[in-house]
Amino acid sequence: MIIQVPQRISNDVDSFVLDDILECLGITNTEYSVETTARNGRNIVIKNGNKNLYVIISGKSADGRNSFLAQSISTVLKMYIADEEEKEIYAFLLDTSSHAKTDYIVDTYRMIKTIGIEILNERKGFDIFPAYDNLREWKEKRTTRQQYNSANNSTYVLESSETYTIYGKCFGANSKEATLISCFVACLAKKEEKKVYFFQVEDNNSSKISENDRQLLESYGVIVENDLLPPFGPKQYEKQEKIESARNQAAFQLNLLNKYGQKKCLICENNIEESIIASHIHRITDINKSSLSWDDKCKEAVDPDNGIWLCANHDKMFENGLFYFMGQNLKTKVKITQMIENLDASTNTALDKIEDTLLKQQIYEFVKYNSELLILKDYIINNRYYNSKMRDYLERHRKRVNGF
Ligand SMILES: [Zn+2]
Repeated sequence: MIIQVPQRISNDVDSFVLDDILECLGITNTEYSVETTARNGRNIVIKNGNKNLYVIISGKSADGRNSFLAQSISTVLKMYIADEEEKEIYAFLLDTSSHAKTDYIVDTYRMIKTIGIEILNERKGFDIFPAYDNLREWKEKRTTRQQYNSANNSTYVLESSETYTIYGKCFGANSKEATLISCFVACLAKKEEKKVYFFQVEDNNSSKISENDRQLLESYGVIVENDLLPPFGPKQYEKQEKIESARNQAAFQLNLLNKYGQKKCLICENNIEESIIASHIHRITDINKSSLSWDDKCKEAVDPDNGIWLCANHDKMFENGLFYFMGQNLKTKVKITQMIENLDASTNTALDKIEDTLLKQQIYEFVKYNSELLILKDYIINNRYYNSKMRDYLERHRKRVNGF
């Protein structure tokens, strides 16, 4: 049996480590020779009979967060996928101390397990971390970990009923993280038969993802958009045939992510992504009709101050002018009050048919609670989001729906 060890990690992978790995794999009492190679990649290849066993080797110490494991995955995966022999892939941790159990690193374990890479140390009693079943679970973990400082995010994943859209900064360590997250999302998407799009976001002096990573993503079925997407801010974008292009839509969503964080209705805080819309305050149709120059039209179309996340209900209500804003204060049209009265009347009629008084009370409370979310009274836009540009857009909306 031959074990190939790249020169650059040969200090980390001594005979004790190799014996440990072989024991985990259940390959004992087998003679082997070590072949030192010059290739890249933090992994060894065990040539066992007609099977190639790829083992990704972590960093020596887990202190360095990113460089412990996440940075190594994409290079090895690419190599693994290209191998046409019979093969298996694993990861082995050189550090299993408490440093290797931070939330950040555990998240990496769970992502790579979802991709199908087993962590060998688990066979020797290292805590078992399950693969992720769905993206929501991953996002929740991430949200609690980061206490959601949206500006710090280098990778965003948006979900709709048919697609996942990933926005990744592609500079240095961010690029490797974005690639890993994309492979992970692609594995979930396959089960759900969804498409995955990857947008490369311009960063300080950023370059694009490496050709190696691009090919890896494509082998996972990820559709990689070629052009860099402009970073936060309305300044940079290219001329397009139509203002409502997919690219502008992507830029608009990215700008909203940067301004407000992950999708959540500004009014009712509903955060079920599939029901949240990147809603324009001043509508695209009105921007198109205006006498602005092409450049200025594009600016308004992607300007984060011209947008809010709204749930489908509130989006429709806002668009139809059932509510609007005076300064930061939400105002409703009389119609809504009537609507609620009607709702009350019809609820009471329906409730009259129910005999169980406790159930009746519960249903009434439920309907009342949900109606109140729709009434939107006393809502004020948070100072964090409100500024003079947003005020101007809101004024235009108010004039459109009220005619004054
Ligand atoms: Zn809402």
